[in-house]
Amino acid sequence: MTARYAVVGNPVGHSLSPRIHAAFAAAEGQDMRYDKLEPSVAGFEDAVAAFFSAGGSGLNVTVPFKEDAWRWVDAHDAAAAAAGAVNTILVRGGRTRGCNTDGIGLVRDIKVNLGWTLAGARTAILGAGGATRGIVKALQQSGVADLTVANRTRSKAELLGGEFGVGALGLDEIGGGWDVVVNATSAGLNGVGPLVAPQAAAGARCYDLLYAVDGRTPFCRWAAECGAWSVSDGLGMLVEQAAAAFRLWRGVTPQTAPVLRALRETAR
Ligand code: NAP
Repeated sequence: MTARYAVVGNPVGHSLSPRIHAAFAAAEGQDMRYDKLEPSVAGFEDAVAAFFSAGGSGLNVTVPFKEDAWRWVDAHDAAAAAAGAVNTILVRGGRTRGCNTDGIGLVRDIKVNLGWTLAGARTAILGAGGATRGIVKALQQSGVADLTVANRTRSKAELLGGEFGVGALGLDEIGGGWDVVVNATSAGLNGVGPLVAPQAAAGARCYDLLYAVDGRTPFCRWAAECGAWSVSDGLGMLVEQAAAAFRLWRGVTPQTAPVLRALRETAR
């Protein structure tokens, strides 16, 4: 029987996940379909319960439901437990398990796809929201140095810094000398530029969790203008976190490079 998966979010119309998982399934010969679910902001539990009651096998979870998913599942993996957020749900022995593959996805994109060194790299994360919670542990485990979270609202950085044992600053205090800077804010079109000094990005490898198929997000453009050593958007992380979810669901590790290449080609 064809196994059913979906991504649940609101809005979810723009999601590239169905395309990514369809490509993995075709390449790996997996009999599965992958849809989009867009419940109302208050309708997460009903939609997800109905999906699994109807025989669904697994879900990806995106904005704004990652914390709702954390509360809804029966059990967590270590990454989801640390993050307080779930981006992947699977069913084992009739129980739901919430996982978080964002950190694995980021680290794999940085180390394997981009070839940047994390061990010993002085690393700053901009932002202290759900995405930061999902990536801090994986960055710590990859051996980065002086890991510091900098946030517009400093008190949120301090809270997170205390919880994870990392440094905490305001966005306007981060100065320079970083090897790696990760933008995990949702600053959007205005970017973080007005708040972060240009020397923060100068000479650093700068990674934006936001993505654009042409790679040119506002943060990437800003970092390049500030003299970054190298810049990348988060499309590779999106593909790698999807691959980690696929492995949890299907027990096979899909090739990510052809899928990432195909997504980039749509921008040409
Ligand atoms: P969130 O929980 O809403 O947190 C938003 C963060 O952005 C907060 O730290 C907030 O600071 C900061 N912020 C918002 N507007 C800002 C501005 N104008 N200037 C400076 N800081 C600003 O969001 P999230 O869940 O962490 O997600 C963050 C981003 O990561 C989203 O855009 C999401 O799409 C992306 N993401 C990408 C992937 C991927 O696979 N590539 C995976 C996960 C998430 P305050 O605390 O001061 O409000």
